[in-house]
Amino acid sequence: MTDFSHDVIIIGGGINGVGIARDCALRGIKTLLIEKHDFAKGASGNNTGMIHGGIRYLRYDVGTTKSSCTDSGYIQKIAGHLLHRVPFLFPVMKSDFGGQFLLEGAEIFFEAYDRFQPLKNGKSHTRLTREEALALEPGLSPHIIGAVTLDEWAIDSYRLTVENAVDAKLAGAKVRNYCEFTRFIQDSKQRIREIEFYDHIHKRHEQHEAKWIINATGAWGASISTQTQTPYKLRPGKGVHVVYPHRISNYGLIMKAIDGRQMFFLPHGHTTWIGTTDDDYYGDLDSPPILEDEIAYIIESARSVFPSIDPYTPDHSYVGIRPTLYEWGKNEDALTREHLIVDHDNGLFSVTGGKLASYRELSEEVTDLLAEKLGIRAPCETHSRLLPGFHPDPATEEVCLCEHISKEQLTYSIQHEIVSRLSDLRGRCHLAKGACGGAHCLWRASQIFAEEKNLDPKQQLEELKHLQDTCTKEREPVLTGANLAREELRRFLGL
Ligand SMILES: Cc1cc2nc3c(=O)[nH]c(=O)nc-3n(C[C@H](O)[C@H](O)[C@H](O)COP(=O)(O)OP(=O)(O)OC[C@H]3O[C@@H](n4cnc5c(N)ncnc54)[C@H](O)[C@@H]3O)c2cc1C
Repeated sequence: MTDFSHDVIIIGGGINGVGIARDCALRGIKTLLIEKHDFAKGASGNNTGMIHGGIRYLRYDVGTTKSSCTDSGYIQKIAGHLLHRVPFLFPVMKSDFGGQFLLEGAEIFFEAYDRFQPLKNGKSHTRLTREEALALEPGLSPHIIGAVTLDEWAIDSYRLTVENAVDAKLAGAKVRNYCEFTRFIQDSKQRIREIEFYDHIHKRHEQHEAKWIINATGAWGASISTQTQTPYKLRPGKGVHVVYPHRISNYGLIMKAIDGRQMFFLPHGHTTWIGTTDDDYYGDLDSPPILEDEIAYIIESARSVFPSIDPYTPDHSYVGIRPTLYEWGKNEDALTREHLIVDHDNGLFSVTGGKLASYRELSEEVTDLLAEKLGIRAPCETHSRLLPGFHPDPATEEVCLCEHISKEQLTYSIQHEIVSRLSDLRGRCHLAKGACGGAHCLWRASQIFAEEKNLDPKQQLEELKHLQDTCTKEREPVLTGANLAREELRRFLGL
């Protein structure tokens, strides 16, 4: 079947795709968005979640620092319910190259960053003596010579993506997950007017026509662009994080990894995230492996700055692939984080690069371009219109005790947040992300899902198994010994 009713089709349900869909729909542009998995399954749900200027970009990419800080200020206004403040320490070690000189240099550097702080409601830095830093963060290495503070904000990037998708739908866009783009269909003048995709839920191919097509498939974008006469190049960067089920530190730490690269030690809710690696990656984008030596690199790096990590055991890990723009000869972490809009000159635009922290600005730029082509004058509202979300009633029946998820929250999400599979509730409500890994709540949650979706017991079990497999994939890389054996047994028994 062919549907002719769209002005624009967006391929890719990461933060950039859904951000563009929301802006387009709010301006009255008839929009269809397709995503091949659930939303945020790519980089947008597997990042560090900082909506910061990126202090290290200040060295070589001031434009990115400024635009990220400005957009972070807007994102904070529309998504206050998804934010948390992260006060950071930047400790300097005796063994760091330059020692005392580095500490002085760091302060000058952080002073430069202070100029951008008001844009994103951040506080100016403070210099700490060794004793002050150790009093605030006793787990730090005794070999530090001092520290500088830094004030940042982090966000639930999975929910930020989902809520953009939900708001796009509320504004009239058609938003469909589990629909995989397969090919462009060109007319006799090589113009792309139509695309074909496969709907994995209804198990059928569909063809849809639009005046303009947007390729917002992040790291997948370059291979999709090879279907056109004007392909572009990326340098995809793989980033792994290790997650501990506890708060280990009082503050976030910006630390040097064992090879001198920058890494975060980040309190996130009641958990701790450590990462990220940043390595060129040209493997399978749908299932990037998490390697033993990547986990060891992260933990060893954390240990050198924060030796008190030793008694703790991580419980899972995750991986995302950055859609970084191609540049030759640079180290991965020095690549620009600017974004690029490629006009293929045949009805297709590709958007790539950028950051979570500046997705709204990128979306506005792309929508301005489309609005002009379509002769639409409605102004952008995405910087002031609040994102939708669940507002809990405190007296509700709890399904998950680790993450405080209520039956009402799960039901609300299933009914209003474009949930197709049980596993979609993992990102939307943190289901099975707590310390018990879902042991207490998964069965009950699957019953609620089955009732809402009218599933028979066999389908309910399939959904449960699919979710457990997803959890196992994230847990296995960090488990060893008896814990790994228990996970294997649990998987074998289908518990
Ligand atoms: C490890 C890591 C840490 C990061 N930390 C930060 C940070 O702290 N702060 C920050 O600002 N930025 C950060 N970033 C960058 C940020 O996450 C990305 O710039 C942003 O998420 C890119 O969004 P996107 O929508 O372009 O790509 P993605 O989120 O990757 O979305 C692309 C989507 O396209 C879909 N797709 C692919 N092929 C098809 C197809 N054939 N049909 C339909 N859909 C398809 C994919 O499934 C995917 O969902 C980080 C990135 C990584 C990887």
